[in-house]
Amino acid sequence: MSVTLHTGSFLHAPRGEAEGMALAALAVEAGRIVAFDSQAKLSERYPEALCIAHPGLIVPGFVDAHVHFPQLAMAGAHGESLLDWLDRYTFPAELEFANARHAQTRARQFVGMLRRAGTTNAMIFGVSFPKAMRALFETLNEAGMGGATGLVWMNQEGPDGLLSSTEECRAASEALLSEFCSVGSLRYAVLPRFVPSCSPKMLQAAGDFLQAHPDLLLQSHLSESLDEVKWVQQLYPKATDYTDVYEQFGLLGRRSSYAHGIHLSDKELQRLSATKTRLVHCPSANLYLGSGLFDYRRAKSAGVEVALGSDVGAGTSLCLLDVLRDFYGVQMVQGNRLSVGEMLHLATQAGADLLGMTDETGSFEPGKRADFVALRPKWDDLFAARWAQCSSMEEQFFAAAMLGGTSAIASTTIAGQTTVHPG
Ligand SMILES: [Zn+2]
Repeated sequence: MSVTLHTGSFLHAPRGEAEGMALAALAVEAGRIVAFDSQAKLSERYPEALCIAHPGLIVPGFVDAHVHFPQLAMAGAHGESLLDWLDRYTFPAELEFANARHAQTRARQFVGMLRRAGTTNAMIFGVSFPKAMRALFETLNEAGMGGATGLVWMNQEGPDGLLSSTEECRAASEALLSEFCSVGSLRYAVLPRFVPSCSPKMLQAAGDFLQAHPDLLLQSHLSESLDEVKWVQQLYPKATDYTDVYEQFGLLGRRSSYAHGIHLSDKELQRLSATKTRLVHCPSANLYLGSGLFDYRRAKSAGVEVALGSDVGAGTSLCLLDVLRDFYGVQMVQGNRLSVGEMLHLATQAGADLLGMTDETGSFEPGKRADFVALRPKWDDLFAARWAQCSSMEEQFFAAAMLGGTSAIASTTIAGQTTVHPG
């Protein structure tokens, strides 16, 4: 197997602080990073290597920790809050995936759009139909994309077409898990939509399924809007809070993560921290649905690990650069200052940690998959003006997040396979 040298300026944040190296190279063999060092040293070590120079800045591939496969067509629909949004846009969009051909077309589009957005690994909320999930698993495997996905579990509070019994969900999940998750870079995720969509029996079955399979991950939604929190309190009057409902069914733990967590009490944050349960902050979606402002500093000081999600279709962009811009704004209005290293870490290594892929992706450490994104040094006059003033790679990355989005992504490399995106 031959070595390819990717050369340029590299910035990553494996531990939370930004670490940059100019005139550097990444040696890639069979889809993995075999060395990360100065260009001079690696050119000498691999004189025969094919050399690919990337102008601009190279960062690790983005890890989207919460994105919905069946919700592309509803992104950008006008004017609803969470619970109306589910009835009016989400459920009709998801019902279309009962048609296997539609699901297959959308799977190809979805994976292509993730790659175009610089996402190389993701935690993907699936849909209720096993055939549609097969199409997604196959397409992700073909693209070499890593992460986790699974069937959505839901047996109440939705249109009949999206509901399945607990037994059906468990059997279909077992089948998908054994067919698609023993090879490649995909793990299976059990995905109860959220408390109101699942009967107590179904939530308990999700907890039992998680315990029965040590490689399984779990993701759901928690405390996104105040109306939702009130609804859960009515459904479970004896529970101390929303988080307590998930805990009762064995759904907290180091393999579990929850999107949002905006309206949590100190006690709930303490339970998440004590059980090593993670939160996924989705600032674009939170702004869009008016759900509230997630206090990143408060969650972190309570000891809760946080990753970043686009939450498309409530989110308005699949590109985590756009999501970082909203993250920055949502934290700034709450008086939370963020370093560039923290921002880059959140969009890359934090998502890898959530997926149980700490040693697999998220930075340029040798041994990891060669998952990275090259950012364009120039795509419009505003950015070119800023770039010309940047005196560090951190400033360049920040400018790409504030002013760039998808147009800043020049190429995406997934497990060593580079796709160039013409400007
Ligand atoms: Zn979501």
